[in-house]
Amino acid sequence: MYHAPIRELEFVLNELIGGDVYANCPADVAAAILAEAGRFAEQVLEPLNQSGDREGARWTAAGVIAAPGFKEAYREFIAAGWPQLNTQEQFGGQPIGRALAAAVEELWASANLSFKLCPMLTHSAVEALQLCGTPEQQALYLPKLVSGEWSGTMVLTEPQAGSDLGQVRTRAVPEGDRFRVMGQKIFITWGDHQMSDNIIHLVLARIEGAPAGVKGLSLFIVPKILVNAEGKLGEPNDVQCTSIEEKLGIHASPTCAMSYGERGGALAELIGKPGHGLEYMFIMMNAARLSVGLEGHALAERAFQRALEWAHNRMQGRGGSAIIQHPDVKRMLLVMKCSVQAMRALALFAAQELDSAEHRPDAGERARAKRRGEMLIPIVKGWCTEYGQEIVSLGIQVHGGMGFIEETGAAQYLRDVRISAIYEGTTGIQANDLLGRKLGPDQGASMMALIDTMTGELKRQSSAHPVPRLATAASLESVGWLREATASILKAYAAERDSALAVSVPYMKLCGLVIAGWLMARAATVAAAAADGAEAAFYRAKLDSVRCYIEQVLPQAQALSRIVCGGAGSVTQSDTALI
Ligand SMILES: Cc1cc2nc3c(=O)[nH]c(=O)nc-3n(C[C@H](O)[C@H](O)[C@H](O)COP(=O)(O)OP(=O)(O)OC[C@H]3O[C@@H](n4cnc5c(N)ncnc54)[C@H](O)[C@@H]3O)c2cc1C
Repeated sequence: MYHAPIRELEFVLNELIGGDVYANCPADVAAAILAEAGRFAEQVLEPLNQSGDREGARWTAAGVIAAPGFKEAYREFIAAGWPQLNTQEQFGGQPIGRALAAAVEELWASANLSFKLCPMLTHSAVEALQLCGTPEQQALYLPKLVSGEWSGTMVLTEPQAGSDLGQVRTRAVPEGDRFRVMGQKIFITWGDHQMSDNIIHLVLARIEGAPAGVKGLSLFIVPKILVNAEGKLGEPNDVQCTSIEEKLGIHASPTCAMSYGERGGALAELIGKPGHGLEYMFIMMNAARLSVGLEGHALAERAFQRALEWAHNRMQGRGGSAIIQHPDVKRMLLVMKCSVQAMRALALFAAQELDSAEHRPDAGERARAKRRGEMLIPIVKGWCTEYGQEIVSLGIQVHGGMGFIEETGAAQYLRDVRISAIYEGTTGIQANDLLGRKLGPDQGASMMALIDTMTGELKRQSSAHPVPRLATAASLESVGWLREATASILKAYAAERDSALAVSVPYMKLCGLVIAGWLMARAATVAAAAADGAEAAFYRAKLDSVRCYIEQVLPQAQALSRIVCGGAGSVTQSDTALI
């Protein structure tokens, strides 16, 4: 049984990050949303998770059929208004802010990752149209996408164009004020299904005669079923799902090979200006990357809950006691628990900075929050998904042999979480983004400003309680390692780019560990102040978690810092032919 960790989410939102979390949504409404989302995740989505994995989505000539129960769950999902969260009011949405939306999304992802991907991609399409659509396009498509009656997809990848989208070959030929799109796309999540009445594909394609590379790419609306000017559904468009992939995990999320324009060209509308397609994609990717990043700790939370239950019930060892009594099993569980809390804190902190970027009264502060939020996104995406896998894998270890057997469900989480470090840009691409787009342009000024903020706050912290004292000292030391590594990688980036790129992933992981460590130190101070109050058990558990993070996880930062400062040569100076 999955238990939505509402108290943990509220701790982060209310007591840890604060700020502009409730700029859009009063705290009591937010609490009701979280409670209701928790119920939906536990009672509707979670019961379909294992069966969805076993039975999967099915391709038929007439279209893809979702796994049993998914269509009904989707109907309930839209009837309850969940797709409307954090979309604009004028299109029927409820703009609750990114931090609260991210908290809700964690619940969907923990309960049923395959299901979560459908509304997530619809949300990306909504963001694109809100940002770049014409008023006519917005009026035609947004109300139905916001309500969830129609779903959306992101259609970028082609066999020869994965990380390098400059190689996209799908063509768009002008026809009157519209276009005909022709090409083959692969790996399109929820590219076809019958849960919604229509599917709005956002397709990256090259207008005939446009330059090669990324500058020639434009973004198009390609509906599965054509929509007339009054918004009524008409004929099917020239869009086909030709097959779905057999894959390691997320079996209930159809990963579709799509063919556009086999019968003369799929009718399409251009979004925004020609040649700006990738730029628009990048605007939206921040939201999507945050959403995928939190899949790391969402699955780790689910794996933790299952492992904890198992550890209490599996009798093995000293006098037939439960395995949780073994120090090593206890260690694994504590590491899982504190790591989930650290990743969650980091992801919601990043989301809150993006909320501040919209709500701070001062323009300078808004700009600072935007830079910081955007800098944190590749760290959340890269670190939480990579580390999330390690934590989910620990969950299998707690189960012993039964973790490797499908029956317990622990293995599914590992199979499912594996994709999160690949789609929406692999870990390597996140590290490139962090260095090239976030640190490079301002020579690390935003990162150094964050390092200064963390240092200042940690130096000001004073508590008589031993855990916050320990956490503050350890966190301060780790921020020092991050400062050193940041200076080193920036120097390398300026002098010889490959030396920096050879250690960019360890650097990104270091950022995640240390920034989350700072938030954990803050959590200790909050918890120590409340440890004797009405919720003593909750706060004492929090102190145990922080201590575990500080003693068992954060020390890895020193090793990562050493890799960043001295590990590049082993990569740059070795012969590719000899690997
Ligand atoms: C289940 C699933 C769902 C997906 N859903 C969608 C979807 O809905 N829409 C969509 O458009 N796409 C989707 N994708 C595609 C996904 O985004 C790509 O698979 C991903 O971007 C990686 O591209 P690739 O597979 O071609 O790998 P490649 O680009 O070939 O990468 C292979 C390796 O090389 C590394 N690499 C490549 N370039 C660089 C570089 N410049 N610097 C450093 N390292 C590099 C990568 O990090 C990786 O380790 C999905 C894929 C899967 C498997």
